[in-house]
Amino acid sequence: MVGTGQHFQRNLAPAIYKLEKNGLAKLAATVDVLGRSDKNYFEDVIHIKRNNKPIHEQLAKFKKEDHLIILGHTNALHAKDALDLLRHGFRVAIEKPYTLDAGSLERVMTAGKKNRPALLEYYLTMKSAALLVGYGAVNKKSFYFTESLIKPLLALGDFAGSVGGFTGMLPKLVGTVMRVEVEVLEGEGDTGTLEGRGADLVDIKSGGGMLQDLGTHALSPLVALEKIIGTLPGKGGFTVRTARSSEYMQMAKRRFALPKKQIGETYAEFSCTTAKKVAVTVRVGKYVFGDRNRRGILISGSKGEAYLDLNSCTLSVNDKPVLGIEKSYYPVVRSVLAQTRGEPLFTFDPAKVAAKAQSLVFDIQKRAAENKEDVYYESGAEPENIFVPVAAEAKDKLNEEDIRPEDSHNRWLEILGKEVSKFFPPKKRKGVVCPGCHSAEVESEFIKLGFIYKWCKNCFSLYASPRPSEQEIDEFYRSSKAMKFYGDSIFKPTIETRHEHQITPLLNWLKSIIPEYAPNAVRVLDFMPKYYSVWAEFPGTEKKVSLVEPVHIYKTPAGSKTVKFSTAKSQTYDLITAFDVLDHRSDPERTVKDLSKMCAKGGVVLMTLNSGSGFEYQALGRDSHRLVPPSRLNLMTIEVVEDMLVKNGFELIDVSTPGKLDVDIVLKGFLEDESMPIPRFVSYMLKKRGAMAWESFQDFLQLNNLSSFMRIAARKK
Ligand SMILES: [Zn+2]
Repeated sequence: MVGTGQHFQRNLAPAIYKLEKNGLAKLAATVDVLGRSDKNYFEDVIHIKRNNKPIHEQLAKFKKEDHLIILGHTNALHAKDALDLLRHGFRVAIEKPYTLDAGSLERVMTAGKKNRPALLEYYLTMKSAALLVGYGAVNKKSFYFTESLIKPLLALGDFAGSVGGFTGMLPKLVGTVMRVEVEVLEGEGDTGTLEGRGADLVDIKSGGGMLQDLGTHALSPLVALEKIIGTLPGKGGFTVRTARSSEYMQMAKRRFALPKKQIGETYAEFSCTTAKKVAVTVRVGKYVFGDRNRRGILISGSKGEAYLDLNSCTLSVNDKPVLGIEKSYYPVVRSVLAQTRGEPLFTFDPAKVAAKAQSLVFDIQKRAAENKEDVYYESGAEPENIFVPVAAEAKDKLNEEDIRPEDSHNRWLEILGKEVSKFFPPKKRKGVVCPGCHSAEVESEFIKLGFIYKWCKNCFSLYASPRPSEQEIDEFYRSSKAMKFYGDSIFKPTIETRHEHQITPLLNWLKSIIPEYAPNAVRVLDFMPKYYSVWAEFPGTEKKVSLVEPVHIYKTPAGSKTVKFSTAKSQTYDLITAFDVLDHRSDPERTVKDLSKMCAKGGVVLMTLNSGSGFEYQALGRDSHRLVPPSRLNLMTIEVVEDMLVKNGFELIDVSTPGKLDVDIVLKGFLEDESMPIPRFVSYMLKKRGAMAWESFQDFLQLNNLSSFMRIAARKK
């Protein structure tokens, strides 16, 4: 196994381990320029430090036993090492991108007559397996069947009595194929981004760009089905359009110091007509949608439709789910083993198919390079809108009817994704130093809904920069449809649970602070309350409550009045509540200064914030579902918030992080996507320890103010 980096740790090592357990293979050695990074499974396996000698010399002792060498190292070395090994008679399997140009691919595929390389292709040999079974392209004696990897789904019984019985049924059910659409569109979590990874995926010359990254994936199942859909056209047969996310461009330019032209596309569309006159459209890209993925292959025919969902890897016929496969990297490595051992596998030659898919991509890349115009889109865009040259206003117009009836949270993100670029055009945003400690020592961490998040090396806060102005954010809160939708469809329907888990604890907190520190407070200010004002539930009506710039309030406190911020600024108050406000202020310290000015001497300010010190935000980062801009522009750590208050004339009365959900949320996130990059200790604890340990870990977080929800009460000196 050559290369023991991230790909090895996440995908290859577990697959090889399973092969070992099944008695099919044994890892002989690992090779890397560095020490082996993952020692989890293979403690007794030797590790060879790569030197400057040709790789066949370093691996000479494995030649006799005809070991299979898997090249899973840096893209740039694939071709060179593969050629060297093949020419010296080794058996070789190569990870994608197999080579970086068409010439080397040709040379690698023809280097040795007997020992042609096997190619590992995740979408062909894992994700598309159910579809290939449906088209009868998988041999019934292959490991897919003998190891029962293909699973029957709910509606299989409508068509066949068993998985094997469904083999080859699709031509009859779909009829003559008319149209094929492939989408590999990623907007969600870690898969939807390129930041935090090496230049390999960014630099077009090192195999970067979406065509290279996802194009081969999208095309390989189609090449495998050429007998059904018709041969894909050769040179120049594709029409291509590419675009790049503007936020990503900014980040890539800074991080990798690459010239603009060399930064790979983040979105691409290409289409062609096959020899059987089937229209094929492929869309691949990242930084699209609000925060979700859409991956699938749709085959429409004269009699029906087959849809392979490339997220869940399930095959449906006319919307009825029939076949699935357990998602893992195992079938990819297993199929390579089958290829090199001459086991029965497919009706096509998988190495030839993968190589052809990649060589088509090389040609498509060439076509793409001929496009003169650079197209940019704002992160979170709908793919359908990327190339639409309509007036900005019409493009941003929110069309609620076309929103799919998914669950409310996704729908909210979808509305928000459309609104973010309308309310906050990237060109108008301004870069800022850390809003917590003013340090400029920061690093770009990730992009979420079009906002670049940075991490402050000095105080550990997470924050978005460049960012909109205070006025723009206020305008958003006033008139955004997403904010209204959140209130109507998420906040209101869950009001009862919110009472139990949010409002009542907050009231209890108020009741524990106010009698002691502000027993005679009369003038009360609720600063920018969203959806509800806690004062509507507070006993005792003698208090005069003013609401500053409230957002979609459902229940107004009795006798309260609404005031403008500018009016409130010229008054003083005995008690001020500012719940979840500093999170979305463009200049949070400015807001603390304003609060200090408005707070009478001896008066009390009560705040809640989302804390950057919290386990949830620190462990999940971009993958935290609650980290959504613009309501979470600042995730300041607890120390800087305390300092900010003290510096501006307050003394601290009570600071706590009563959050209860960090561990649950991280655990849930981790279970949804096991490849999520979380610290090894955390994944160990979550996987191997039970509820008792998690609960006491959450207690520990609370006790040490390391939970993600923070409460602060402070008194004006
Ligand atoms: Zn800082």
